[in-house]
Amino acid sequence: MERGFVLREGEGGFERAVGILEMIDKFPDALSDEDVEGAADFVYPDLRNTVLGLLELPSSRQLEVLFFRRVLRIFREAQRAREEGKKLIFIPFTFPPEIFWAFDNIFPLCTEIVAGAIVNICAGQGERFWDFAMGLGLPDSLCSANTIGTMNLIHGPGLKPDAIVYNTPGSCNPNAKIHAFAADYLGIPQFTLEKPVDETPRGREFHYRGFLRFLRELEEWSGQPLREERLREVLELSYRAVDLYNEYWELKKARPCPVPNIFGMSLLVLRSQMWGREEAVEVLQRMVDISKERLRRGEFTAEERARVYFAYIYYLFDFYNYFTWAEKNGVTILGDILAIHHFPEPDLTSMDSMLHMLADTAFDYPMTRQMGASSISVKWLEDISRAANDLGADACIFGGVHACKHTLGTISYLRRELMRQSGLPTLILMGDVMDKRHLPMPMFQEEVMVFVDQVVAKKRQSRRRRRGAGGGCESEAPAPPEGEAGERAV
Ligand code: SF4
Repeated sequence: MERGFVLREGEGGFERAVGILEMIDKFPDALSDEDVEGAADFVYPDLRNTVLGLLELPSSRQLEVLFFRRVLRIFREAQRAREEGKKLIFIPFTFPPEIFWAFDNIFPLCTEIVAGAIVNICAGQGERFWDFAMGLGLPDSLCSANTIGTMNLIHGPGLKPDAIVYNTPGSCNPNAKIHAFAADYLGIPQFTLEKPVDETPRGREFHYRGFLRFLRELEEWSGQPLREERLREVLELSYRAVDLYNEYWELKKARPCPVPNIFGMSLLVLRSQMWGREEAVEVLQRMVDISKERLRRGEFTAEERARVYFAYIYYLFDFYNYFTWAEKNGVTILGDILAIHHFPEPDLTSMDSMLHMLADTAFDYPMTRQMGASSISVKWLEDISRAANDLGADACIFGGVHACKHTLGTISYLRRELMRQSGLPTLILMGDVMDKRHLPMPMFQEEVMVFVDQVVAKKRQSRRRRRGAGGGCESEAPAPPEGEAGERAV
């Protein structure tokens, strides 16, 4: 049997991932190239690409060591939560975690972050949990990101939550259903917050009332009221992270982009698991500082050949062959749907104002906002166009998500309209976010390189020619301001 695949007695995938992740504490703060090579050679093949993906490029090495140390800290706290009198609650990555950090005795763990840890750390990459779900007779139209995370809870021993949260109806059905199934199977309470498709003030008011009811249920279940002072502390930390997120976004606009590709994955984890805690501020601050320093020094891994925006989610099962490979080949990954956040203006003056902020954040949370809109197609297009144009993307890539029948149903509209309205070509792939069996990485890389060479490069050339003909400079100009993007053409 493959090394690292065996689960010890009392262990589930989560415990296995935590056990292996503990090696990060043994690393020196400053790793040399030899240290990284040694670590990559030491581990089993599935973990090798995680180690290299995080640490091979000096641009991101130190940050990723710090980041994973903080991830480990939170996972260990989750393991101790019950002993410390807290209730452990699993939440989907379509939900703001700061709501739960504001409770004194609730500890949130994000299902998809647990799944990501299993997929990227444990041998077998979480496939055993997906296959287990199929063995239970569940349909294969589930989302790998939450199915792997919830099956880890059902599969055997190990960490068990005291309750589960999900959005229903109005966000994503596969996500809601697998969380509901897990809660039912484990016999634990489920808390839901409905997102209406009505985006008018009336719809927001309906949602806000549901949000208050949701909080009351959490208070009743946890046995402690939400304290105003604690909520303010958490929101202050959240908004320090928001300021850094805005700075990070601005840095991404520079050409070439000084932000390492892998930071996109780190941001996703910070937002889904750590927002509202000091760790999110600490890590984001370092991400911003490193990117600024790289910009100042003009340090880039390779000549920037393409700037792409991922129209839905990144692949999250092979950091090395995805983020690192792209960076080494001059393909800047600017973001994905989960990187687009809408934070309301902060108003921490009263309990009421803070609750409204939180409810609005949940209403506009990535995926919930688009998949729960009155028109998925229009809202998705609107958000991706704005982000891609703002960051000066040359093109978009839709990697596919096996369960996302809603995105698959409207992707051709998205591709057509991105091209028509913004001159952005879109590559459509049929892969999956956490299950590598849908589209092997060599095929992904081949498709992306052909797209970059055949489509993006020609687009860049023609833009340079037009600038040249107009007496402009031959080199790439900075990203155009919003509004000009519609004039671009391939
Ligand atoms: S990736 Fe798609 S299927 Fe998975 S939770 Fe998000 S919207 Fe749902």
